[in-house]
Amino acid sequence: MDDETFRAWAHRAADWSVDYLEGVGERPVRAQVAPGEIFRQLPEAPPTAGEPMEAIFADLDRVVMPGMTHWQHPRFFAYFPANASPPSLVAEFVTAALAAQCMLWQTSPAATELETRVMDWLRQMIGLPQDFSGVIQDSASGATLAALLTARERALGFAGNAQGLAGGPTVRVYASQQVHSSVDKAVRIAGIGDANLVRIPVTGPLHGMDPDALDAAIRADREAGMVPAAIVACLGGTGIGACDPIDAVAAVAQRHGIFLHVDAAWAGSAMICPEFRDLMRGAERADSLVFNPHKWLFTHFDCSAHFVRDPKALTDTLGLRPAYLRTLGRDGVVDYNEWSIPLGRRFRALKLWFVIRSYGVETLRDMIRAHVAWARELAEIIDADPDFELTSAPVLSLFSFRYAPAGVEADDLDALNARLVERINDDGRTYLTQTRHENRFVIRFQVGQTTTTREDVMTAWAAVREIAAGLRTG
Ligand code: PLP
Repeated sequence: MDDETFRAWAHRAADWSVDYLEGVGERPVRAQVAPGEIFRQLPEAPPTAGEPMEAIFADLDRVVMPGMTHWQHPRFFAYFPANASPPSLVAEFVTAALAAQCMLWQTSPAATELETRVMDWLRQMIGLPQDFSGVIQDSASGATLAALLTARERALGFAGNAQGLAGGPTVRVYASQQVHSSVDKAVRIAGIGDANLVRIPVTGPLHGMDPDALDAAIRADREAGMVPAAIVACLGGTGIGACDPIDAVAAVAQRHGIFLHVDAAWAGSAMICPEFRDLMRGAERADSLVFNPHKWLFTHFDCSAHFVRDPKALTDTLGLRPAYLRTLGRDGVVDYNEWSIPLGRRFRALKLWFVIRSYGVETLRDMIRAHVAWARELAEIIDADPDFELTSAPVLSLFSFRYAPAGVEADDLDALNARLVERINDDGRTYLTQTRHENRFVIRFQVGQTTTTREDVMTAWAAVREIAAGLRTG
């Protein structure tokens, strides 16, 4: 592609992007295709000769777009948000143009130094003390794996790295049932084993782990000759937003000298609002914390902010410096690949820098506050509706509910609500997903999209009520 053609297509892609985002609210939120429908339209063999861009772009609209679920739709209330924003998108264009591999300081000094600076901005924004250093990971899953590997090595005096785990003591990790499955996955990959992820019971309205039960489990394991290595505390669990009492959990961690990792993947963004920071009290005593600006801080996927108190423990766990990765004469510089599992790294700091500078912290706070306020308002409306039941109170902007009209047997409510979710998502005006809570099928509702308005929240609710009423009559 010559420069002029490239310029024309780059402009066309920019126009396409703005048009798409302007009109996304008119589309059904969840893709309305059957499995295999897109695949069947794609040629079995690759083209042997190049095709015109015009044809490729036409197929983007004709073949690909019908199979897209619109995460930037203002009525996307499913899962957790993966919100984005124009400044972040512009930064991603530039990042793609640079196509830099930012694994070492010298492979792009600006990428490393900007990352150090914006991670320190984020640290200040969420109120973590100065003794935390930050790195941008590809995902919260990657950050949690890095944290648990570090915890394992710290507990084993780095013998796991050196000699492997065979024949070594049994390493134990503690978390409640409310943590995300990325914790289970990390325990598995770290060679700790599913059976050594000890589930601590939860109590109270926030479904947080019971610190006394945690303490007792650690003592019992120690007495049995096992090695308690890490506690994973959850700040905004995926199902219903559960929050562990981090202060009390941190006290247990400190008492036993155990590594504490806080998974705030979703809720962490809201910690930029001082009035929500009660939920993270005690996180300043953790060893590591992750949150995803790519969920709720208007920054494109992928961008996970991982803060650690002792970067040396992390780099002693993950860092390797073969001859071909040495920065001659400058081995003291920060090489962020030593803080992460993959070697290669995208220039992820640029989009955060664009977002924070373009909005400013106060506007970012106001956007998140609005999401929380609308979620609380809708939860109150649902709570007062005799046909519905609020099954978990809002934690920030997430709550759950279910349809429970009079006259339907309790045993039939799970199936009724499963049908309701399917109908809502087939309808396309909004998109909601489910979880199991207290042994019941419940529907989650989270508010967090960049362009969502209060009206979108209320429109979605009107759609839910209308579809639910139709379920009973039809
Ligand atoms: N932790 C929590 C609480 C989550 O909700 C999620 C994803 O929704 C994750 C971790 C995993 O995030 P990622 O996709 O960045 O690995």
